[in-house]
Amino acid sequence: MSEAYSPNSLAAKIKRRFVRYGARRPVTLPPNFSRVSFSFDDFPRSAGEAGARIVESFGYRATYYVATGFQDDENHLGPLWTKDDLARVAEAGHEIGCHTHGHIDCNNSSLADVEAEAQRNEEALRAAGYDGPLRSFAFPYGETSLGAKSSLAKRYSTLRSVWPGVNRGSIDCAYLRATGLDGGADGVARARAQIADVKQNGGWLIFYGHDVRAQHSEWGASERELEEVVEAVAEAGLKVSTVGDVAKSIISEEALRAR
Ligand SMILES: [Zn+2]
Repeated sequence: MSEAYSPNSLAAKIKRRFVRYGARRPVTLPPNFSRVSFSFDDFPRSAGEAGARIVESFGYRATYYVATGFQDDENHLGPLWTKDDLARVAEAGHEIGCHTHGHIDCNNSSLADVEAEAQRNEEALRAAGYDGPLRSFAFPYGETSLGAKSSLAKRYSTLRSVWPGVNRGSIDCAYLRATGLDGGADGVARARAQIADVKQNGGWLIFYGHDVRAQHSEWGASERELEEVVEAVAEAGLKVSTVGDVAKSIISEEALRAR
């Protein structure tokens, strides 16, 4: 997330409910399916350095939802990604996913703008030297309209929200739930509870973080906090895959062709 967003009005809540339950891409998880994915949004440099190092130290790989408008820039998340960061994480086997180029809110933008921004983001990733697949998308601020949800679902295998919780049973691949790697000690406790829940009851738990550094933003975490969460996943013995790899294993080719 790039700036504070507090859509707490009743109208916003009602609209979000329609977005959650409309234009779904339902996929039923196989029985006994348990999986964890780690992801980072926007792509601050610290996510590509400390974040990648920690995830890799456990033998895992993450998904980076890159907002290409942030290239070579700096904001409250600290210095943001460079061409070299992109090359390094892709080379290490992390997944490169998409955000909108200018981090626009898909709920408050016209459909034409959302589509143009998604297109521009992909073109900028290619221009920065990335030539691998682009299958996964995360809504900036976790927000979308039904129209944008439906349109982006044609472009990507999965769309990720910031609706906390575990994806379980008949999940919506056009609005995947995800839990923030933020909130300090409370955030770590919340993560631990969800990890225990998945170990016990199955499901697909996706974490999303931003900057990973000592003086982190409100949406970030310290290295130690990230390490505690990754360690808890390892201790629980849960399998970790990138969002794209999970999608490949649960969405049939047929379903992808039919969209
Ligand atoms: Zn973002």
